[in-house]
Amino acid sequence: MNQVHILVEGYAHPGENGAYHASPTSTLITTRDNKKILVDPGTNAAKLLEALAKLSINESDLTGIFLSHYHPDHFLNIRLFPNTDVYDGGILWQGDRETFYESTIPGTDIEILKTPGHADEDASLLVKTAEGIVCIAPDVFWWEDGNQKTDNINDLLSLVDPFANNPAALLESRKLVISKADIIIPGHGRKFENHFRMS
Ligand SMILES: [Zn+2]
Repeated sequence: MNQVHILVEGYAHPGENGAYHASPTSTLITTRDNKKILVDPGTNAAKLLEALAKLSINESDLTGIFLSHYHPDHFLNIRLFPNTDVYDGGILWQGDRETFYESTIPGTDIEILKTPGHADEDASLLVKTAEGIVCIAPDVFWWEDGNQKTDNINDLLSLVDPFANNPAALLESRKLVISKADIIIPGHGRKFENHFRMS
């Protein structure tokens, strides 16, 4: 079975002098055959490197880095791993070589779920684990610190995303994630159980 390990829990909050602080949840997926995919390395280099060191994982242990979408808070830390292959929801980059793929990350059973709305290219991942199907869904769902609410399906569907470029598509993506996942890992906030699965 695959395992999903949360390396850094995503956060988002205003700081001093008009600054804003945000890093998404960074996860490590370890597949049955020990491939290691780092999902959304984020912006917080210190926390990410500390979490990887705790697991004794170096860059050379990584199979690839998956980027959910092209917002800098989600990808800035790829600069820490200059030799690692990079995936998005449809392309694998190995240097200048692009390999196009569909439905699953090549060589794994990790399913790609296209989830546009927050960003056009946004893709989530469905990972079969011993705890159920985990959906890593940045930023289909995300909260500023202290605002997370997941008790009611309306909390999830009507959550306002000020950065969404297509709110109608985002709503459909949220329904799609809710229809597929047992556990949801949002872009920023705590992982939560999905009590509203509608298949
Ligand atoms: Zn984000």
